[in-house]
Amino acid sequence: MTELSLRGLTKRFGAMTAVDDVSLDIPEGRFVCLLGPSGCGKTTLLRLIAGLEAPSSGAVLVAGRDQTDTPAHKRDFGMVFQSLALFPHLSVAENVAYPLAIRGVDRATRRNRAAELLQMVRLPDLGDRRIHQLSGGQRQRVAIARGLAINPRVFLLDEPLSALDANLREHMQMELRQLQQRLGVTTVVVTHDQKEALTMADILILMDGGRVQQVGAPMELYRDPANAFVAGFIGNTNLLRGHLRGREMAVAGTTLTLDDGDRIKAPDGPAILSVRPEDTRIAARGVPARVTFLRDLGESVQVVMDMDGTEVTALFAPRDRPDVSLGDSVHLAFEPGRRVVLPA
Ligand code: ATP
Repeated sequence: MTELSLRGLTKRFGAMTAVDDVSLDIPEGRFVCLLGPSGCGKTTLLRLIAGLEAPSSGAVLVAGRDQTDTPAHKRDFGMVFQSLALFPHLSVAENVAYPLAIRGVDRATRRNRAAELLQMVRLPDLGDRRIHQLSGGQRQRVAIARGLAINPRVFLLDEPLSALDANLREHMQMELRQLQQRLGVTTVVVTHDQKEALTMADILILMDGGRVQQVGAPMELYRDPANAFVAGFIGNTNLLRGHLRGREMAVAGTTLTLDDGDRIKAPDGPAILSVRPEDTRIAARGVPARVTFLRDLGESVQVVMDMDGTEVTALFAPRDRPDVSLGDSVHLAFEPGRRVVLPA
């Protein structure tokens, strides 16, 4: 069932359109990541969903009911901000129970619920501490517990893990994901980190320039990108300019014949071939290139080549390491069925 629907949501700040005509349906219980480069409109879209920002046009519906004119505090939403916005003058337990206090819930119920929430985020003994007595990861957990205090229908988080160091961040990604799965709460998280989004999301919403570029499961965006922006943003890829005619793709003076499994998403004419480094091979025949860089990464070997002025990367398992050296002339082949032709 659709829990959250966005209908033509647009937000302008003066002449600048931060969110441009976004329409989406998010099913109940899903973990959604809003992903995209800095300034693409992720935070503005989240704030529109939360009701912290009024749209220039469009609507936000929860379970089919229009909430566009409902103020933020009357929406059944939990929020975690990038800054966490925890209160230094309150104890940890009081912070967690704060959304209940402003809704007039009595003290005893608040205390029980705070204890339950702190248990849930694995901080059972820290309720009496002050915020400054907590580590970064513990603060993060307090903010998450507070966001869940009202048992929200929709849980919204803006870059909740961005202040943490890499190890703790990876750990918290899993923890947040597991907590969300256990509670089944529909969750939308803003992140600019594609690895983080791939780790956590059921559904990725990739934005650029205020517009949604593609929505889908992470592997869908990886395997079947809608355009060159998506192909380049999700994982690594080689983007090779060429010319498409029917099933023939001319790249750097060589014509490749595309196969049934390959995806052709561009009309005939100038086009871009997207091939992942792990689907790029060095072969006896193919597109001529020259080795410009070799690197052993332990679990893989990376070979960078120059193909008619375009940099192409190939990735090999150590046992498949090609017998090439810097400066060698080679030929490149691209795995049939894994090639995607995108609009130029
Ligand atoms: P980041 O990852 O850097 O936080 P973002 O994708 O979350 O970026 P937004 O914060 O949504 O991007 O901003 C989108 C665009 O809207 C930016 O160009 C930003 O400068 C602009 N913008 C955001 N808020 C306002 C505002 N209150 N007034 C004017 N312009 C704004």
